[in-house]
This record gives sequence, structure tokens and C-alpha cells, in this order.
Amino acid sequence: MKKFNINNLVRKNILELQPYISFRDNNEFENPIFLDANESPFGEFNRYPDSTQKKLKQTLSKVKNISPDQIALGNGSDELIDLIIKVFCEPKYDSILMMNPSFAMYGFYASINENRVVKLNLNENFEIDKDEFLNIIKENQLKIFFLCSPNNPTGNCIKDIEFYIKNFNGIVVVDEAYIEFSGKKSCIELLEKYPNLVVLQTFSKAWGMAGARVGIAYSSKEIIKLINTVKAPYNVNYLSLNKIIELISKQEIVKSNIENALNEIAWLKTEFENINCIKKVYPTDANFFLIEFENIEKVYEKLLEKEILTSKRSPQILNCIRINVGNREENIQLTQVLKRI
Ligand SMILES: *Cc1c(COP(=O)(O)O)cnc(C)c1O
Repeated sequence: MKKFNINNLVRKNILELQPYISFRDNNEFENPIFLDANESPFGEFNRYPDSTQKKLKQTLSKVKNISPDQIALGNGSDELIDLIIKVFCEPKYDSILMMNPSFAMYGFYASINENRVVKLNLNENFEIDKDEFLNIIKENQLKIFFLCSPNNPTGNCIKDIEFYIKNFNGIVVVDEAYIEFSGKKSCIELLEKYPNLVVLQTFSKAWGMAGARVGIAYSSKEIIKLINTVKAPYNVNYLSLNKIIELISKQEIVKSNIENALNEIAWLKTEFENINCIKKVYPTDANFFLIEFENIEKVYEKLLEKEILTSKRSPQILNCIRINVGNREENIQLTQVLKRI
């Protein structure tokens, strides 16, 4: 990495943008009367949520052993992907890099701003070819690299992530949506070493809170400040903030849910060995399998007949379907259909 200067990467208008500051949320009061935000004085949810999301950040800060001002919260990590692109990518001008195949939303949000999406093709084991990476970054001017590990939809962790963070002359966003299933260390511990790193995590997968829409970005204070500057002031709602704080205090429940999911993954893996229509089950570090089938159209259709919904990845990943783990009853139904094909 060349000498890192964040000001060379951020859009000029964002550097100059004054964030919306809620006076109420940035001062301490003992017994306030709120006549400042045109809310109703009646009702259970009549007040705007805390725009600084102080409580949840403090809670996370303790759990993850990181300063609260290195944490940004989004309406799902999806929103954070959008916000990070907004901070760094000049519409119509800048480009992002993503792996191929990987999570489609990086390209989706970049395209909305007409930012070019450069794709780094993964090899046959769905790993990054380092020479290919070095070539691409030499030939293209890139602002952000979205590196998803464990990767969706392939399920594997990317090896030697530090190499990519170190060599990329821009922001590297490591999306750890499935990290809790992998048993691997989070890249959060690399934040001190790399000022160009953003780590995304979410409450949508292992934490079982997809409906609450809460995602987390961990990064330097400077980058977190920029993300907070461009976010909608009340982007995470009151109900979700409180639910998540409550859930963090019951981490043993989350832990046992993760264990159960991993048990089901192991159970399915052995079941899959005796299913004829399956050609290959890719190794997984996540809560889903990427599976190659003999006759994918038939498999997909037969599952759909029983209203079992799966994610067809073909033709992008030829003859493959992504199937996530369900509870035991659901997994039995899945394997029963597959066994009859
Ligand atoms: C599911 C998923 C997310 C989570 O998105 P949310 O908006 O937090 O629900 C993020 N990244 C990847 C790769 C995912 O698969």
C-alpha cells in the first residue's frame, strides 16, 4: 500500500459535508421536556431513536473490545455497503472491485451510482489467484475492494486476507456476514494495523435477527465518522436497537443456535453422501452449502413442487444450487425429496 491518506480517497463533497447533529442526542439531560422534533407527546414509540446509537455501540464495544467510535450501525449491513460506496465513490467516475462469484449487492449499489464494477474471478476452488489480483489492481484504478469471507455463495473463507488489505491502494471492506459459523478469527483485530480496512458484520445470520435489519461496520475513527456523516440520522429504529441490546445480554442463546446450525450442517453433510443426484458438495465455513447436481433443473423443480425454496446459482456457477441449513424437520424434508430424484 502506498502511504495512506484518507483525504485522497473520500469524495470532496463528503469531506465538506456537515453531518446532521441532533442536539438532544449529543447532550446530557436530567429530566428533559422534548418540544424540539415535532413528535407526538402520546404513544409508546412516539420518540425518534437515538441517532448516535450510543447504547448499542457501548454494548458492542465491550463485547468486541473496540472503541465505540470505531463502530457504525446500519439498517442491515446492506445499508452500510451503500453508505461506504457513497463516501468514497464519485458517481459515474470511480470503480469498485469484487470477487466473482460473490455477494451481488456490492455490484448492485455501485451500479445505482453508475460506478464501474470490476470482477476478480475466483479459481476452481473459489479462491483468489494472487497474480490475477495484482494484475487487476495494476490495470485499474479502484476505490474499494469488497472481499467477502466466508464468501457468499461459495461458502469458503478466503485465505491470507491480509495480503489483499496490504496491497490494495484503497479501502478494503471485509464482509464477515458468516464469520460466526466459520470458527475463524475476525479481521477486526487487523484494524489497528491497516487504516484502509472496514469490517462488516450483521445480526441477520448467526444472530437470527434478519427481520430487525441491523448491520455493523468496524473501522478507523475517521472512516466511521464519514459513514455516520452520510447516514440517515435515524437509520436504525428504536425497536431494533433495543431488541439487539437485549439479545447481546443473552449470548448463550445465540451460541447454542450457532451450535445447532453447525450440527445440522454436519448432519446434512453425511446425508448428502448417499444422495445420487448430488455430484459435488463444496466445503463450507458458513450456514449454507453450494451443491453441484447432475440435473439441476429437475432438482430445483422437484424441490419447488414441495415448496422448498433454494437459490439457483447456475449458470453463473454451472449446475449449482445454494441451500442453507434449516431445522431438523426441514432438513429431513429436503433430503427426502433429493433422495427420490
Ligand atoms: C446476508 C448477507 C449480508 C447481510 O445483509 P444484511 O443487510 O445485514 O441483512 C451481508 N453480506 C453478505 C455476504 C450476506 O450474505
